[in-house]
Amino acid sequence: MIIPKEPKLTVEQLTAVTAIVEEYDCKLQVIVGHHRSVYAVLGEERKTVMVNRILGLDFIDRFDAVDSPFKLMDSSSELAQHKIVLGNHIVGEGPFVIAGHCTIDPKNPNLFIESAHAVKEAGAKAIRGGVWKPRTMPYSFQGDDASVKILMEARSQTGLPVDTEVMDEHQLRIAVEAGVDILQVGARNALNYSLLKSIGQMTQNKKIAVLLKRSMGMGPINEFIAAAEYIAAAGNPDIMLCPRGTNPTMDGYRNYPDESITPLLKEKTWAPVIVDPCHSVGRAKYVPSAALAAIAYGADGVIIESHLDPQRGIGDDPKQSIKPAVLKQLITDIEAIWATKNRILLADN
Ligand code: PEP
Ligand code: MN
Repeated sequence: MIIPKEPKLTVEQLTAVTAIVEEYDCKLQVIVGHHRSVYAVLGEERKTVMVNRILGLDFIDRFDAVDSPFKLMDSSSELAQHKIVLGNHIVGEGPFVIAGHCTIDPKNPNLFIESAHAVKEAGAKAIRGGVWKPRTMPYSFQGDDASVKILMEARSQTGLPVDTEVMDEHQLRIAVEAGVDILQVGARNALNYSLLKSIGQMTQNKKIAVLLKRSMGMGPINEFIAAAEYIAAAGNPDIMLCPRGTNPTMDGYRNYPDESITPLLKEKTWAPVIVDPCHSVGRAKYVPSAALAAIAYGADGVIIESHLDPQRGIGDDPKQSIKPAVLKQLITDIEAIWATKNRILLADN
């Protein structure tokens, strides 16, 4: 990773550095960070002659060869100081709660907008709403391009950033052009490397964040971080990791709750962790305790399905959405846990 003396390289300087790395069969990837840009060398970055030639340029401060498979996402990376800013919130500074419907019902746009106002009133910092949905059965409602308008209407009325899942390049393009703030990569696509690359490329420099869910079968933590590395290596480091429960399921829950991996993630990577307790436990009545556990484990926030009238919802809403009044109490409790200084991420023994 190349760190220039100034916050970013000029066009001429970039051309000069690119020419050198390409001579050694590497590629240069610009990563625009919050305070400065860094330049990742993709490929075999430990070629001494190449490194020395780059270090010889008077506008280069240093060359950090990160001793980890995750050059960008590793805790020791230059990007560790990177901050994701969404709306008025710097992720990591106070609990970041994303809330709203699982699925937007295009036949009932007002219900979504009313829920968006209600979750804002409850203290949410961003609104979720599924425009497109991954469904087990091909005959179930798959979402509707037209719902993007409803999502963006909620954004303009509440002033909060909005989150939706994209599953392919068609949806990705629509969401980026509409100005969606957070693109969710669902559990089923967390290992779809082509999609991860396209998302990284298409969201580069656009202040769009990616909420990367953990896939149901993702055992090794490194597999999860590697998926995030794909997005960062394609150009966008604004990635939040989202444990959402895995298989095999816990009898009685929808999945096997995995908020407890938060400290492991926090040790290995600098990426914020936003836990999804709804898809993990899968029943509204269990959601608050799972959300509080996530915060106690050190999560930077939670993503919650919340609906004014869950029984009138579609997708997951009838079974796992909590009402905004419950969300409001939950956010108060989350703030209390956040405030305890016991929220030690990694104890020094
Ligand atoms: C969702 O957030 O509604 C969803 C489908 O999530 P997951 O990809 O975690 O199943
Ligand atoms: Mn859902």
